[in-house]
Amino acid sequence: MDTLATLTRLLGDDRVFTDPASLALYASDETPQRCTPLAVCFPRSHDDCVSLVRWANQHHIALIPRGAGSGNVGGALPRSGSVVVSFECMQRVLEFDPDNRLIRVETGIITDEVNAIARTAGLMYAPDPGSGAYCRIGGNLAMNAAGPRAVKYGATRDHVLGLRAVTGDGREITTGSRTSKYATGYDLTRLLVGSEGTLALITEATLKLVPAPAAVATLRLCYHSNHSACAAVARVMRQPVIPCALEFMDRRSIECLHAYGFADDLAPGTQAILMVEADGDDLPNQIAALTRALEGEGQLEIRSGIEAADIKDLWSARKSLSSAVKQIAPRKINEDVVVPVAQLADLVDRIDRLATQWRVPLVVFGHAGNGNLHVNIMVHADDADEMRRATACRLGLVEAVLELGGSLSGEHGIGSEKRHFIPLEIDAATLGLMRQIKASFDPAGILNPGKKLPD
Ligand SMILES: Cc1cc2nc3c(=O)[nH]c(=O)nc-3n(C[C@H](O)[C@H](O)[C@H](O)COP(=O)(O)OP(=O)(O)OC[C@H]3O[C@@H](n4cnc5c(N)ncnc54)[C@H](O)[C@@H]3O)c2cc1C
Repeated sequence: MDTLATLTRLLGDDRVFTDPASLALYASDETPQRCTPLAVCFPRSHDDCVSLVRWANQHHIALIPRGAGSGNVGGALPRSGSVVVSFECMQRVLEFDPDNRLIRVETGIITDEVNAIARTAGLMYAPDPGSGAYCRIGGNLAMNAAGPRAVKYGATRDHVLGLRAVTGDGREITTGSRTSKYATGYDLTRLLVGSEGTLALITEATLKLVPAPAAVATLRLCYHSNHSACAAVARVMRQPVIPCALEFMDRRSIECLHAYGFADDLAPGTQAILMVEADGDDLPNQIAALTRALEGEGQLEIRSGIEAADIKDLWSARKSLSSAVKQIAPRKINEDVVVPVAQLADLVDRIDRLATQWRVPLVVFGHAGNGNLHVNIMVHADDADEMRRATACRLGLVEAVLELGGSLSGEHGIGSEKRHFIPLEIDAATLGLMRQIKASFDPAGILNPGKKLPD
């Protein structure tokens, strides 16, 4: 096709692929949907991205930005006739400046690599998504990714000083600054973070680093019900010591752990686990304060100072839960809801009722300290009746979350999978303004169409 030949001339012979095997590799993300794109391209630089976007405008071709494709809401899912823009070949570290606690990178770099570089100078990049070993900074920025440490350190948005990007009509923009304080102009950095590839291709990021804690201590707590574990979470978040992780796993998550050979030493009757971590100075006093807050109705066991190997096992088990749940049923409908933390116990009660009402297995775990739970509705896609019940359960969950003052997504974003729920959460005037923002960044609508906002 002539159009693609022009693109190949712009980016180079080895940068644009249209063979069936390459197209198949980039036809999906973590969602079960697939759509074969027209081509996949691999820009090598910011300038390549500028040429690419200008080409796409000229030929009215949709661009689908992509990091590692680990997103679970269809954010990187192609549409027919689109070109996938993979950032895999943009991984350079442009500057590492420990004195100013920052690192400037191309956005195709893998998240854990940024952290590994920071650690060489006693610093860390705090956001820690479970997919950190393979997801890319561009994907994290686009989704405002977070992880267990967000309860103390915040999400990706809290760790970005500035960005370089190309808008949908090919303008090159630079946002933010290299400083830890900044009050000039509108905050386009915070707008682009979480924009899910719909406003601009983010090509470079200046990321904030923080001192790496010298030591970490972990507690594992067993409770006899979801409700009692979540009540303990609310008590922890009311007192002054903020843990650096406060994770929840329900009974079905524990079943998945057992099937993977983990957590075989839990107290009898355990129906929910909390994993609590503290870091930094004065660990004994921090742990004493957290232990006091965690005590209460339904607590069966508290183990502190468990062996380093056990801690590592439990965290790796926790991190593998996203995939491990598929033992219950082949397909998961993954909701990533968030409520104010004091409402968490109400939310888990409602989730229990929804599971009973709609007779679908729900596996629930997540970042309880932020009130953020991953509710996995486990289904068989070929069972029409089960799928109907799952859909009803999903709507019931969203309604419950909104009634409790929460939101559709804590960290996974909206993508193509959740955008039909948006009008339930965002009022028409606010949504109208968001559409105008989209139009001013991307007038021809070529950047990741069909994502983030409802039609
Ligand atoms: C096992 C597992 C564990 C996970 N754990 C977590 C977790 O703890 N916390 C969490 O937040 N998420 C988690 N996720 C979800 C996912 O890993 C994150 O959303 C991650 O940020 C996606 O990064 P990616 O590089 O794979 O991006 P992709 O999935 O490729 O893309 C995600 C979005 O970013 C856009 N995009 C990518 N690069 C750019 C760019 N340079 N410019 C503009 N837009 C871009 C894409 O268009 C898409 O909309 C998990 C997923 C899995 C499979």
